[in-house]
Amino acid sequence: MTVQAPATGFRPAQRISAIGVSEILKIGAVAQRLKREGRPVIVLGAGEPDFDTPDHAKDAAERAIRAGQTKYTILDGTPELKAAIADKFRRENDLVYAADEITAGAGAKQVIHNAFMATLSPGDEVILAAPYWTSYADMVRIADGTPVDVLCRDHNGFRLDAADLERAITPRTRWLLLNSPSNPTGAAYSAAQLRPILDVLKRHPHVWLMADDIYEHLTYDGLPFVTAAALEPSLKSRTLTVNGISKAYAMTGWRVGYGGGPRELIAAIAVVQSQSTTNPSSVSQAAAIAALTGPQGILVERRAAFQRRRDIVVDALNAIDGIVCRRPEGAFYTYASCAGLIGRRAPDGAVIDSDSAFCRYLLERHDVAVVPGSCFGLAPYFRLSYATSEQNLREAVKRIARACRELS
Ligand code: PMP
Repeated sequence: MTVQAPATGFRPAQRISAIGVSEILKIGAVAQRLKREGRPVIVLGAGEPDFDTPDHAKDAAERAIRAGQTKYTILDGTPELKAAIADKFRRENDLVYAADEITAGAGAKQVIHNAFMATLSPGDEVILAAPYWTSYADMVRIADGTPVDVLCRDHNGFRLDAADLERAITPRTRWLLLNSPSNPTGAAYSAAQLRPILDVLKRHPHVWLMADDIYEHLTYDGLPFVTAAALEPSLKSRTLTVNGISKAYAMTGWRVGYGGGPRELIAAIAVVQSQSTTNPSSVSQAAAIAALTGPQGILVERRAAFQRRRDIVVDALNAIDGIVCRRPEGAFYTYASCAGLIGRRAPDGAVIDSDSAFCRYLLERHDVAVVPGSCFGLAPYFRLSYATSEQNLREAVKRIARACRELS
């Protein structure tokens, strides 16, 4: 849906006139309406952990409020937060960043937005590995850039193929944005799988790399997480390593994300932030310091819980005639093919002619909300977020199985 000019004479800026309202939010709105009507809808659309924020982060926020840390802070993060971030990068990623090579914003999303605003001019291209988090393309467009999709296929584990990447690079390419583990596919890269992509970038020194590591702590079956600037230090001077506290510590609402990169880029990001939102919330920064420097045991516990949930969902989906689902390496999403269901009919005679039609049918007739793959740039698939209880997941996959059995 594009933004319309209504009768009031409101005229949207050209910049946003071609940008859609998120399909995910629309599905969420329908699910909420059905819930209000008393339907037992299970929503598997959310991109946030169902766990709670750790108590020590909450306590730090309370203490910050009482201590009067309620004023503007340094624009892109307090020295204490930057020290905690630098320590995290060193401890977990083997990456050394000085304070002026670190920026903190209101979520990883703001850091990515700032980076595009700080670097893109009209016509500049950003390569996105499709399917991708829906926001990426619109964030590029808002910054007057041009998103260039490169398809990552199911048979390649939804990972970017190095030759496809090389073909997509033009003199106007500014960035490759890589997200591992991925939203929406859960695909993650091992060092050996990342290497050929980095080798392509080494041959094209005008292309910078944005590594969105927000799902870093959610990799399964012992797969070690790798980030590009650590694996290939020669790329560090043109890589922005983006991360945040939202997914790792179940702190989506606190709005703190951060990035590490060359100081000229970090300074340009600060210019954008200085003329938009100024510092991320002072109280949230205190909570983020506690999360990053406090006990890290929950990361391991939650990873184990998510891996169990993944296996429940993948096993159940693969037992359904018409659905095929690879076992993702990370994040909390499965991206299942519903190609085998296309062309079948619902009991009311409606034809399931797309993944959107299948998702509508699941929601309206069987009370399960998932997101069609067409939202992410690869159909016919659906994304299921397993960031909910095992009980909810078992019930949801039972409903999906019943829904598919009722198709003819
Ligand atoms: N990157 C990806 C791939 C995401 O899925 C999300 C959240 N949905 C973000 C970034 C943004 O996270 P934050 O809450 O830190 O802004």
